[in-house]
Amino acid sequence: MSPADRASVLIVGGGLEGVAAAWALSLRGISDVIVCERDTVGGGMTGKSSGIVRCHYGVSSLAAMATVGLEVFEKAEEIFGTDIGFRQTGYVVGVGPANVDSLRKSLAAQRAVGVQTEEMDADEVARLWPAADLEPFAAFGWEERGGYGDAYQTAQAFAASARAAGVKIRQGTAVTELIVEGDRVLGARLADGSSVFADTVVVATGVWTAPLLAQHGVDVPIRVHREQIVMIDPGVDLGAVPVFSDLVSLQYVRPDVRGEILFGNSDLAELEIADPDNYLNRADEAFVDLTVDKVGTRFPDLTEAAITASYAGCYDVTPDWNPIISRGPLENLVIAAGFSGHGFKISPAVGGLIADLVVDGRSSDPRIPETDFRFGRFADGDLLKTPYPYVGAGEMR
Ligand SMILES: Cc1cc2nc3c(=O)[nH]c(=O)nc-3n(C[C@H](O)[C@H](O)[C@H](O)COP(=O)(O)OP(=O)(O)OC[C@H]3O[C@@H](n4cnc5c(N)ncnc54)[C@H](O)[C@@H]3O)c2cc1C
Repeated sequence: MSPADRASVLIVGGGLEGVAAAWALSLRGISDVIVCERDTVGGGMTGKSSGIVRCHYGVSSLAAMATVGLEVFEKAEEIFGTDIGFRQTGYVVGVGPANVDSLRKSLAAQRAVGVQTEEMDADEVARLWPAADLEPFAAFGWEERGGYGDAYQTAQAFAASARAAGVKIRQGTAVTELIVEGDRVLGARLADGSSVFADTVVVATGVWTAPLLAQHGVDVPIRVHREQIVMIDPGVDLGAVPVFSDLVSLQYVRPDVRGEILFGNSDLAELEIADPDNYLNRADEAFVDLTVDKVGTRFPDLTEAAITASYAGCYDVTPDWNPIISRGPLENLVIAAGFSGHGFKISPAVGGLIADLVVDGRSSDPRIPETDFRFGRFADGDLLKTPYPYVGAGEMR
């Protein structure tokens, strides 16, 4: 056995969360780490991310994680020595009359964990987004420090930094199964027939997690569903518009680097279950119609707008739309999956929590209790839900 076949920590999956874990471990001085990525770093669903950065979560631990993420994104040049694509445009969220109370309570809870956020009046939002019809909104939340990032570039920065500290990142290296003895995970078997042994194995395989762990009798409650994204040429120069989360017609739009806008649907009532290895990688006709309808309604003045491109990705969705970042249920195993379409903004904190779990089994940040993200919460019926749900848009917030 060559020395490279044994490590303190083996991370399966070189997506954003796997390489964030490698980076965070290396910051704690643990670089005897191997990452096995079957394809290329960030080439999974990370490459499909809309990259929206906001701390607007009613679940306090998530708001705190997003704050930790934001601080890393803001200091990216200093931390990674490179631009990771973070653009601080600001983030505005608009709600209808039924959700004003939830918005206010959520903003107060966010401020309590250090989020810089406040209400913004409609005139101010109109100044920022002059093309928007704001009539149906009753209140807005605002985060000056929000914006959007580039998940792929961020993953490359985590990976490069971890590599520089001595972490080995093996691309083109698929894990076929874990090596389990009794209830203990000892390592993983690779597609070429070789093995890697480790004291701790972190499984961060996103939408591919459930089948990998099912082989070992671990039933991970993650459903995979397709999410479509449409790029739009607004036909005019919109200027420096912020990210806009519209919780009335359930859509989000954000500027993109070339003056386009990126459109996503946030109506999650009906999910399209998908095979992550075989799904339609473009918007279908119904989604194009929905885009035209929603964008046309919210931005009626953009009469010259035109769709320029579309693509699709998959979310790894848990029953409460929040991730599993947890030790167990097998010994020496850490699961970090089920990010349910919002794992970009929190990725630096996810890496930190994984490193905490590996090193001493618990979170080092009292705002982010590890119990919130435990695997066992589903079986216990103790789901991680916001105390301030938005009518019609309860998930991911
Ligand atoms: C369309 C879309 C829009 C999104 N928008 C946002 C957003 O605006 N804001 C936000 O915060 N989040 C957003 N997200 C979510 C965020 O991008 C993801 O949660 C995050 O990128 C997932 O990272 P991951 O590492 O868990 O998964 P992935 O990036 O999919 O990485 C998993 C990796 O595991 C590898 N792998 C799988 N099986 C094996 C195996 N057996 N052996 C070795 N390697 C394996 C895969 O090749 C893959 O590279 C969005 C996601 C999508 C799809």
